[in-house]
Amino acid sequence: MEKLKCTSCNGDLELDEKGKFATCKFCGTKYKLDGDKIIVVNIGDVSNNLSKLSPKIMTPFIVIFSSISVFVVSIILLISSNIYNDVDKYNLEFKYGEGTQNGVFVQETLNKVTSKNKTNDHKITVKYNEEESLDEDTIINIKHSLKSLADYEVKYEYDSKGYISKIIIEDIK
Ligand SMILES: [Zn+2]
Repeated sequence: MEKLKCTSCNGDLELDEKGKFATCKFCGTKYKLDGDKIIVVNIGDVSNNLSKLSPKIMTPFIVIFSSISVFVVSIILLISSNIYNDVDKYNLEFKYGEGTQNGVFVQETLNKVTSKNKTNDHKITVKYNEEESLDEDTIINIKHSLKSLADYEVKYEYDSKGYISKIIIEDIK
């Protein structure tokens, strides 16, 4: 019978009593034998190969998965930042600040409201004391009734998407 050699280290293999299994006495690699000479499974090599192969197999998946994740996250961030920016930019045009505002700023806000209401999808209602309207002339009248040197209490209401839908102006008592 031919001497069996370890495929890992080329050391001599020791057969077990039944001649079905062999172990390399140098490196410990285990073999299963089929017939006299044929080594069908190098158990050590198989496990070694698997552990060597798995990073190679996994790397493309990890790279692809990471790329997809980064892409998806970027898209989500892009969309959410655009939505945020749209609402934010829109609101900032009409918003000098919640709370007490000088009449000059309130009048300036109402100027923007009347011009924006002509073109914008998001209409802004103006409420001043008991008067509440989307109508351009009424808003202009409200603007003229405000005193530029006086202070007013200004509050905002928002639609479901976060856009300003109503500006409430109140005299400060
Ligand atoms: Zn060996």
